[in-house]
Amino acid sequence: MTKFEELGLDQSLLDGIKDLGFESPSEVQEKAIPILLEDDTDLVALAQTGTGKTAAFGFPLIQKIDSASRTTQGLILSPTRELCLQITNELKLYSKYEKGVNVVAIYGGASISDQARQIQRGAQIVVATPGRMKDMINRRMVDISKIDYCVLDEADEMLNMGFFEDIKDILSNTPDEKSTWLFSATMPREVSTIAKKFMYNPKEITVGAKNSGASTVQHEYYMVSGRDRYPALKRLADTNPGIFSVVFCRTKRDTQRVAEMLIEDGYNAGALHGDLSQNQRDMVMNSFRKKQIQMLVATDVAARGIDVDDVTHVINYQLPDEVETYTHRSGRTGRAGKSGISMVLVTKSEFRKIRAIENKINQKFLTKKIPTGMEICEIQLYHLANKIKETEINEDVENYLPAINEVLADVDREELIKKIVSVEFSRFYNYYKKAKDLNSPGERGDRDDRRDRTNSREIPANGSVRYFINIGEKDDYDWMSLKDFLKDTLDLGRDAIFKVDVKESFSFFNTDASHTEKILATFQDFKVDGRFVNVEISKNPGGGGRGRRSGGGGGYRGGRDRDRGGRRREGGNSSYGGSRRSSGGSGGSDRGRSRRRNGFS
Ligand code: ADP
Ligand code: MG
Repeated sequence: MTKFEELGLDQSLLDGIKDLGFESPSEVQEKAIPILLEDDTDLVALAQTGTGKTAAFGFPLIQKIDSASRTTQGLILSPTRELCLQITNELKLYSKYEKGVNVVAIYGGASISDQARQIQRGAQIVVATPGRMKDMINRRMVDISKIDYCVLDEADEMLNMGFFEDIKDILSNTPDEKSTWLFSATMPREVSTIAKKFMYNPKEITVGAKNSGASTVQHEYYMVSGRDRYPALKRLADTNPGIFSVVFCRTKRDTQRVAEMLIEDGYNAGALHGDLSQNQRDMVMNSFRKKQIQMLVATDVAARGIDVDDVTHVINYQLPDEVETYTHRSGRTGRAGKSGISMVLVTKSEFRKIRAIENKINQKFLTKKIPTGMEICEIQLYHLANKIKETEINEDVENYLPAINEVLADVDREELIKKIVSVEFSRFYNYYKKAKDLNSPGERGDRDDRRDRTNSREIPANGSVRYFINIGEKDDYDWMSLKDFLKDTLDLGRDAIFKVDVKESFSFFNTDASHTEKILATFQDFKVDGRFVNVEISKNPGGGGRGRRSGGGGGYRGGRDRDRGGRRREGGNSSYGGSRRSSGGSGGSDRGRSRRRNGFS
């Protein structure tokens, strides 16, 4: 096996590497480092996510710059702020024993003048996002006209994010004689365009197969109906008690919503998307790194560059439009030589995307089934038993043992175990005892029947019913509290009520048709604080806001507010999140609210 000592690196770097605990170079490091140290050449390096690309360009860059000079000599462009910071931190660690090396990160969302000041103090290496870089060039806050090295890191992601023009602009401000090093996980057409246009006779190294996802990742799909995505997600989490995952949604709104529901349901979850402030995003990422958050629900853009090792599962709550995006998602797990699982919740109509992804990543998906409620209970039970077995005894309980022994004197061992286990287990059992099968019969969905699911209940053939209820925001309800109210009043179980849409003076919600009778009966003559609460089947099963125009319908008690509300909501926005409980910060809610208000005023 090659050693770092054989690659031509200076002793100061080797000392730094020792502190980092890297024992031997990864393949891309082994291939790239000697080339970059020996020649001043352009280089295209293709290697999957998690293969150690940062050090592959970082070590040579630090060795080659002149740390005695304060001129900016190296520019690293990277797609996101998180990545910028990560690279900057890594480079600082690498150069721990190399005196005078200054690395500065510049990225949007933070004070530009602070960043300009740091650069003025003399930064040999600047790590930047393309947007902020362009901005600072235009304002003459940074001079990259004398750089010797330009690194395009995660080039495919940068281009995916639409930075092509910015990169072109930035490169036009750099000298022709510099060397350009391009690092990328994949080689889509735009990346080769960049390589052709801006690089001179680049050397090329490839690690692993081109365009393939990390092979340590197992890909699985679960066929569900669109409506069951959320309960299915919960089951996947409940089946994997130690899960440490990134859950991908397509929109910021879904991201926020799924995170909120998970939090409401007692999971350690958090949201990461562009509507959060930098500060909130930092807080969420910190909690995630510390594993206080087990399920990080994220948009694709916000999750770019999440470099957290040990992610056990990537969950595609919804599939992305681009196959390419899928490889970026699944690359968040299986990092640093560990194995990972990428799970996809897929509906029948989306199924063809699975085939397209298989072709792209050159790997087959496993067909999996959403576990039944009873399977989950079983898993949780064993998990609990193991947890009890492995729990370290807190010696301080000693003092209380005589009293406790007295309380439990008449309980024998077997009974005691049953009781201890029941304390936690009942929570799952009560939730899942009547849970239905969530697997949607699809092209291949039925092929592997792991076990006969005797506990499954089918969705009623006549599907779901949408209801109108004459309470809303002005009664201080938001979707969560309304759902709680309905749940408590109707005693139907949490998942029985869905698509809760709270408007100003009224709301909508859905249940399976099987509950309709009970619901209408319950609200037959129902008063809260002396006021009638009225529920009717909505004439608008789709559930948008459009259905209730001011003139129509009639006959709702509390109709005084109806007209105003109806008109205001005419835009058809199913306005969700009237008052959002935000995960990892509270700013998201205000934003959502004010935007919505503006939209209707
Ligand atoms: P990439 O940019 O290819 O996705 P990174 O450079 O972010 O990968 O490295 C992924 C992880 O592997 C990081 O945690 C990094 O510290 C670690 N790593 C990199 N090189 C080595 C090595 N030679 N030995 C052990 N760990 C390494
Ligand atoms: Mg990287």
